Amino acid sequence: MEAKNIGIQVKKPKKQCDDNNCPFHGKLRCRGRIFTCTVLSTSMQKTATVGWERRHFLRKYERYEKRKSVVKAHNPACLDAHDGNIVKIMECRPLSKTKNFVIVEVLGEEKGFKERIEAEEEAKFKEGKAKEEEGKIEEVKEKPEDKNED
Ligand SMILES: [Zn+2]
Repeated sequence: MEAKNIGIQVKKPKKQCDDNNCPFHGKLRCRGRIFTCTVLSTSMQKTATVGWERRHFLRKYERYEKRKSVVKAHNPACLDAHDGNIVKIMECRPLSKTKNFVIVEVLGEEKGFKERIEAEEEAKFKEGKAKEEEGKIEEVKEKPEDKNED
């Protein structure tokens, strides 16, 4: 079966698949918004978690802050995107409660993806530890007050 034209200029997948929700070989129609993003996780079946960074303007400080968008996208078998791939996603009809995008093209590999994820994990871990320590300090402070009340 020949890969269908999905309405935008993308490389057609080399492989074939029999997924009904594939925009090239199935009946899924794509329309709406298009994003280029990185695959963060492919641990779900036929679904990838993808994310990208955007800039949000803060009027008070007249500066931008980084914000992240994370969505779930259908991962057809013919494209088979992996963690760290840079992909193009396109909006489609809702495929499940939280999934209304589909991967339409794999553009390449993000350089230093593993390092970035590891650094983020470490930062989260450190943040958690700092919060825990704060909690401990507060607990220590609270104890003498309790005694005074008695
Ligand atoms: Zn396909």
